[in-house]
Amino acid sequence: MGTHKLCQNLGKNLEKCVCTYSSCIKRGKCCECIDFHRERNEIPGCFFSPEVESTYDRSIERFIASHK
Ligand code: SF4
Repeated sequence: MGTHKLCQNLGKNLEKCVCTYSSCIKRGKCCECIDFHRERNEIPGCFFSPEVESTYDRSIERFIASHK
């Protein structure tokens, strides 16, 4: 198995991941998660409070609004 194919932080990341979209294939692969949401002007779920996270609205606007 090529080490380049497996993120060495995957296990640790999965333990810490609080995203409730559990079927997401990017779970635990934080670089892919960030890349995916960044391209959409969004922020990964772990930046939101549990209440906002569960709405799956990952927009920057929602993030800012929830911190006012
Ligand atoms: S924040 Fe988005 S990309 Fe990251 S694990 Fe959750 S649904 Fe997937």
